[in-house]
Amino acid sequence: MLSSTIKRLPQRPLIPLIPQIPWTRSAMVGALLPGLILALGACDSDDAPSATGPDAAAGAPDTDDSAEIRVAGKDIRAFNPVLPATAARTLPVDPQLGYHVSEVKDNLYVVTDGVWQSVFLTTGAGVIVFDAPQSYGARIPDIVREQTEEPITHLVYSHAHLDHIGGSAAFADIAGLEIVAHERVADYLVEIADPARLIPTATFSGDFTLSHGDEVIEMSDRLQYHSNEADLFIYFPQQKFLYAVDSLTPGWVTFQYLDLTTNVHAYLKLGKEILSYDFDLFSGGHLTQLGTLEEVQASIEYTDDLVQVSREVFEGTDMLATMGEAGAQAGFANPFLLFRYYQERMIAQCSERMLARWQDRLSGVDVWVDGHCDKLLSYHRVD
Ligand SMILES: [Zn+2]
Repeated sequence: MLSSTIKRLPQRPLIPLIPQIPWTRSAMVGALLPGLILALGACDSDDAPSATGPDAAAGAPDTDDSAEIRVAGKDIRAFNPVLPATAARTLPVDPQLGYHVSEVKDNLYVVTDGVWQSVFLTTGAGVIVFDAPQSYGARIPDIVREQTEEPITHLVYSHAHLDHIGGSAAFADIAGLEIVAHERVADYLVEIADPARLIPTATFSGDFTLSHGDEVIEMSDRLQYHSNEADLFIYFPQQKFLYAVDSLTPGWVTFQYLDLTTNVHAYLKLGKEILSYDFDLFSGGHLTQLGTLEEVQASIEYTDDLVQVSREVFEGTDMLATMGEAGAQAGFANPFLLFRYYQERMIAQCSERMLARWQDRLSGVDVWVDGHCDKLLSYHRVD
């Protein structure tokens, strides 16, 4: 049952609007990426480049040079391959179905299309679904039905973002469904009135324990590490499983700009909060694998190292002298241009050092490290 701290929200009519959701760019990416990942994952390891760094391009397929694609200023084929350890942990997405579902702990199931992840829990008294991603959320009711005869009784939102709950409209016809969210998430969803995101029926703030059937789930808003409204740590104590969406991607470097956090200061406390939980399996809501404790610790260590390296670069770079170098060539009439030179000089130094330390430990470091350095250098300068 729900705790006494829960608040009830007045309901507006729920109208299933799935067919009316526009074919947005993000939806298109959601549809395309699983196939791309499958294609990459299907490569025989003998065909994959064994080295990291620029030589890795030697294993890339021959394509027409006139069609060269450049990312972050370099040939897309020059980026490091996914590390073997990451590839080995990839959850197998069924190419026909477009998703993977499996019971990863007692009564706890993970669903993924290779880019997004969500979970659901059978309790003996109904199924609790956590998030309904925009890419495959509309299929979750059928996916649940394939795994259990228990009806869906609850839908819990990790946070307000469209990509994680934009498939919730498909739950509109489920009679008696309780939709649980943080009160600030509910306020935001009421305000924006997005038909793709159902309005919560029950809200809370602080710590909230949901006991249902044989299961207990502990939720907390103890750190607003990612979004503007609230982010939940969702913990399954009986399964020793932690679900903290848009926090870390185990096996992989953290997503763009520290997972698009709107608060770097809070994000830098994330590792300590995560490690305060007693877990041995983790989902951050994205990408190809779940995380062991050791993999999560490596992701946290990356962030700690980034703080240290970026601070050393920041403190070791004289802003006025560096801008002066640029001004000597370009003149001093455009301070923005001179500052950008200063920032890019620091980003390059920070990225080079981080890449050397981490490209053999996490996949994707060369994709996002410059943005991580950019974000931290600005943090050191103004926060
Ligand atoms: Zn998010």
